[in-house]
Amino acid sequence: MARVLVTGCAGFIGSHLTDTLLGRGDTVVGVDNFDPFYSPRLKRAFLEGALGKGNFMLVEGDILDEPLMRRTFSDFRPEVVAHLAARAGVRDSIENPELYTRVNVEATALLLRLSVEFEVKKFVFASTSAVYGARDSIPFREDDPCETPASPYGATKRGAEVLCYTFHHLYKLPIVVLRFFTVYGPRQRPDMAVHKFTRQILRGQPVTMYGDGSSGRDYTYIDDIIEGVLAAIDRDLGGFVVINLGTDRATRLRDLISVIEETLGMRAKIQQLPDQPGDVPITCASIERARRLLGYEPKVPLEEGVRRFVEWYFENKELLDRET
Ligand code: NAD
Repeated sequence: MARVLVTGCAGFIGSHLTDTLLGRGDTVVGVDNFDPFYSPRLKRAFLEGALGKGNFMLVEGDILDEPLMRRTFSDFRPEVVAHLAARAGVRDSIENPELYTRVNVEATALLLRLSVEFEVKKFVFASTSAVYGARDSIPFREDDPCETPASPYGATKRGAEVLCYTFHHLYKLPIVVLRFFTVYGPRQRPDMAVHKFTRQILRGQPVTMYGDGSSGRDYTYIDDIIEGVLAAIDRDLGGFVVINLGTDRATRLRDLISVIEETLGMRAKIQQLPDQPGDVPITCASIERARRLLGYEPKVPLEEGVRRFVEWYFENKELLDRET
């Protein structure tokens, strides 16, 4: 059992990680500022289960607030830091590049510095397939060059990865960088494809499809991602390692829309819009390293994952109708 500091604990992936850690008996301090990128009331709802548990404590505040972060490290003395808090929108990052740099890079530097000072045993950083930029040779391998991200979001995450390496180099802080590939499932962010398309179809609105529908994404179900994160926390992986978490399969956007249509038993009215700046034609993860180092094996196929998402959507429809 470990003491884990989870940043971004109220978000999509952070709230699942928090629930799973608490469920297996770890102690969690969660940090989140309930950032308004999407409804803070949704995030509060995601955290409801955790807030009732004796092994959970919430620190409501900004990861850029140095005194607050110092107090949190000093009071709680985490063994593991799982750093998931971020601004995570590709398109939004084009409008707000300085904000993305502050939250995704500057705050990561602060958390790394405090992790060294308070002798954290492992720092797990949530990175992204967006660091690979636009390329068509798949699958993406961890050692591929990542010097040409297509959005400020990807650039800031790449910057934070490089900082992670430097902190490991200088201080021997053990660090695992996990590159998540398009995560979906219950609690998914409302701006992301599966969630957005489901909402648009159910409301009879046009489904906004950017490009001709041929772009491909490696959609990864949340439970598979959480298994990978837990293995990264638990296993001794040495000093510094970068690991993709995806499925090694790309699904075309128009095929994703078909899966959602079939699951809902409804037809989408598709509105085709031009390609968006910052978007890339395809993502697809090589998961050989994750298999070897983490024993990772994605289990949930897209059809089943979308079915579970839609089930969650209907269970929470009143809240989602109000907040999205
Ligand atoms: P999310 O927006 O649901 O969660 C991020 C959380 O961080 C939110 O609850 C937000 O309130 C919090 N936060 C933002 N700025 C903060 C600040 N300054 N101080 C404290 N808290 C702050 O996003 P998510 O989809 O759960 O993503 C979690 C992590 O995984 C992010 O680092 C993201 O870049 C990464 N990631 C996500 C995906 C995906 O498909 N969802 C893919 C690749 C990488």
